Amino acid sequence: MTDLIENIPEILLMGPGPSCVPEEVYEALRAPTLGHLDPLFIEIMDETKERLRLVMKTDNDLTFPVSATGSAGMEACLVNLIEPGDRVLVLVNGVFGGRMAEIARRLGAEVDTLDVPWGKPVDPAEVERVVSKREYKVVSVVHAETSTGVRNPVEEIGPILKLRGALYVVDTVTSLGGIDVRCDEWGVDALYSGTQKCLSCPPGLSPVSFSQRALETIDRRKSKVPNWYLDMSLIKSYWEGKKRAYHHTAPINMIYALYRALGLVQAEGLENVFARHRKSHEHLAAGLREIGIEMFVEPAFRLPMLNAVRVPDGVDEAAVRSRLRESHRIEIGAGLGPLAGKIWRIGLMGHTSKEENVDRLLGAMRKVLGR
Ligand SMILES: *Cc1c(COP(=O)(O)O)cnc(C)c1O
Repeated sequence: MTDLIENIPEILLMGPGPSCVPEEVYEALRAPTLGHLDPLFIEIMDETKERLRLVMKTDNDLTFPVSATGSAGMEACLVNLIEPGDRVLVLVNGVFGGRMAEIARRLGAEVDTLDVPWGKPVDPAEVERVVSKREYKVVSVVHAETSTGVRNPVEEIGPILKLRGALYVVDTVTSLGGIDVRCDEWGVDALYSGTQKCLSCPPGLSPVSFSQRALETIDRRKSKVPNWYLDMSLIKSYWEGKKRAYHHTAPINMIYALYRALGLVQAEGLENVFARHRKSHEHLAAGLREIGIEMFVEPAFRLPMLNAVRVPDGVDEAAVRSRLRESHRIEIGAGLGPLAGKIWRIGLMGHTSKEENVDRLLGAMRKVLGR
């Protein structure tokens, strides 16, 4: 009997996530599984929460990883805050903004979208204009739009919403651990992220954080949260307080991995981590320019961890990706939706974000493109 797992090659993950996982994190995954209410595991849970507060820059009590990938964090934030008939505004300039709008609609909200062309950032003045015409209970936006490589000005939108009293939901799946995220300072009420992008864990958890105002909104709900698994009022009893109660069996080893990965970020220092992301991004942009490949997004709103680049005219983009994978063991991402066939998405997330990796990709691209 062949075992497929035994023969998995080491692929340099330079797509939109997952990113490369450091050895220390793999080691944490293979530590002995503890019981989900074991006192030592509870200590690890508490320290994981503390480490998340540091990278998110928040004092929020309810800060912990939801037991599923980033999309579950998105769903958790929206399903707890939204009730049928609520007015919700979603700022959409890519796939993940669209996904938030879809979830809000399924919850029976009255959803408006502010649609911005893919590749352009949301304009805070436009947000101001829309929220001054209509009252919204929830406004949501993606910080780092992985489908386009655009950074949205989350820090400028927060103060506008504060004046209107809307709850602010922010997707930091790709931004957390790669660029600055300031949950409290920016007035974010519900924030979610993922493990497999700049935190360099395997996929499987979605760190979330809820403000006091968000928790009060949940307490005042007229209807029960329609999703049992993601109901914060129930999960709280497992992640908070002196006496912990079973809600669901936590993915114990994944939490070890996140704990370890957050420890690595802290040991390097957040500012150093951000600087490393910036540096390898600049190195990539310069190298690509030399072989005639241009960036897709204007400089001020480019994400260092997700580089959307234009496919040169006459190049079969899928063939290039498959040669990179087969001959060079490098994965890069394709464009999605309206950008399919037009861009590649080159991820420099977390542990992947190193000059030596950029050089390896540039060398391979030169060979594959014959430049
Ligand atoms: C990857 C991603 C998600 C979804 O996360 P999954 O782990 O794939 O469920 C959501 N938002 C953004 C911005 C992402 O990049």
